[in-house]
Amino acid sequence: MIKNKISSRFKIIIFTFFVFSGVCIIFLYPYRYRIKNKIASFLNSSKINNTSYAPCESCDQLFTDGIPVHELAYKKEGIKSQKNSLELRNLESKGVLKKITTNDYYIVRDMDYSDPLLLPKAADLLTNISKLYMSEIDKAELKYIPFEITSATRTIESVKRLEKDNDNAIKNSAHLKGKTFDIGYINFANYPQQRALFISVLKSFREENKCFVKYEIGQKCFHVTAN
Ligand SMILES: [Zn+2]
Repeated sequence: MIKNKISSRFKIIIFTFFVFSGVCIIFLYPYRYRIKNKIASFLNSSKINNTSYAPCESCDQLFTDGIPVHELAYKKEGIKSQKNSLELRNLESKGVLKKITTNDYYIVRDMDYSDPLLLPKAADLLTNISKLYMSEIDKAELKYIPFEITSATRTIESVKRLEKDNDNAIKNSAHLKGKTFDIGYINFANYPQQRALFISVLKSFREENKCFVKYEIGQKCFHVTAN
């Protein structure tokens, strides 16, 4: 008798648990990317101490190219905004876009809101930045710390998704045009010398008008458009 009571109570508890989990999943599903981002940024912030977190004090003065400047650069040669990843891959198969992958110079992160595809001009810019950065590291006899590409080409579909999850996302994103990518700086958090060299390299490309750069402290990245 007692045994039966315990087993039926146990069944009720299990049933309630599953119903509760189901309701939670249904309710939280639309916010899955936002939750994922919050967890990732929480984990990162606990790993990195705050003093080394800012990439450089002067970055907000060095890299100030706003939306209109990036727009001028991508209006010249940028691709037409594509509806979804399938359309982007179609451009890749036609040789219009090039896939960027992790190599000795940089890491291409998994991208929730974009595809690791760029116009050859932007992909070449990335290679040239990497080569100069590596040669500066060699000259200074420092350990090479790869930088990270955290975002590349977006689609109308992924921008809509991003807008839902990120209040700062702008509708007519430069990332739709194939010439823009984001370089994350979290990797440099514990390597101030490498970070300083990387920033000087990026600054030199900016000064030669090879690209436009916006320091995005909220997104923890440099937003770069090839010129
Ligand atoms: Zn960006």
